[in-house]
Amino acid sequence: QFLITGYLRDIGQHVRTIQRTVNDMDDVLEFREADLQIADAPGARPIVVSAGRIEFDNVTFGYEGAGRALFRNLSVVIEPGQRVGLVGHSGAGKSTFVKLVQRFYDVQEGEILIDGQNVADVTQESLRHAIGIVPQEPILFHRSLAANIAYGQPDASAQEIETAAHLAHVDRFVAGLPKGYETLVGERGIKLSGGERQRVAIARAILAATPVLILDEATSSLDSESELYIRDAIERLSSGRTTLVIAHRLSTIRQMDRILVFDEGRIVEDGVHAELMARPGGVYRRLLETQMSTGEIVEAAE
Ligand code: ADP
Ligand code: MG
Repeated sequence: QFLITGYLRDIGQHVRTIQRTVNDMDDVLEFREADLQIADAPGARPIVVSAGRIEFDNVTFGYEGAGRALFRNLSVVIEPGQRVGLVGHSGAGKSTFVKLVQRFYDVQEGEILIDGQNVADVTQESLRHAIGIVPQEPILFHRSLAANIAYGQPDASAQEIETAAHLAHVDRFVAGLPKGYETLVGERGIKLSGGERQRVAIARAILAATPVLILDEATSSLDSESELYIRDAIERLSSGRTTLVIAHRLSTIRQMDRILVFDEGRIVEDGVHAELMARPGGVYRRLLETQMSTGEIVEAAE
């Protein structure tokens, strides 16, 4: 009888473990939902990305049932290693732009190329491995902090994890945790602030070392210390990689090599902060002025 009870307890534990894994998977799948609508082309080959040049060539794309296309004959080239800030009013097309780079949807006309390879012709798995993502609201799993940083890189050594954590300024708050990198995080573990979670996601992306990176900056307000750490972490993370940042903070936008200003599915301005600010009545200038007054774009505490 004891034996059976023991068994049942074991099974119960297994079920809970499986359930937890499934829950974690759900979270991961959530922002990959669009993958399900997209199939690999017959004979699709893995993408090979070395330089990380991204090209939109005459792209027309509209969401199903939306009537009018969002992007019409959009062409733009992002050079290898460029750090590009995407700015524009809500609904301008910034998120869709980065979703198309990841092939969440297929375009109706034209091509999206990474190092000359059409994203529609390569395997989605290889595309996912070539592109690192730091989401606006990073998902952390109910695992140790180290496991969260190493997520997707099971072979990472403790040393590699700590180096990534150091570069992303995660070590600043780890020092204060009871079990350091072994501290459990997530809903049943220690609660991290938005800024801390984004730093964990940045550490994850540093470790993954993909040639292309997409970062959706948090809109929520951060204390000035977090703001500074995150800005510095983004700078380190993006060094030597083609980086697309959906930027909401003036401090981030200013440090970009190039800013693309989106308006109703068009790129209406393209340049660095100082250039765009120098245009009297320019879209960027007006956008910044309005958004700073409404708090939509946050001025850095400096
Ligand atoms: P931004 O990121 O600049 O705020 P988005 O790319 O999210 O803009 O949205 C651009 C336009 O596409 C908006 O009009 C938005 O309503 C629409 N849109 C975004 N996602 C979807 C979707 N999944 N289905 C239909 N329309 C969408
Ligand atoms: Mg968006």
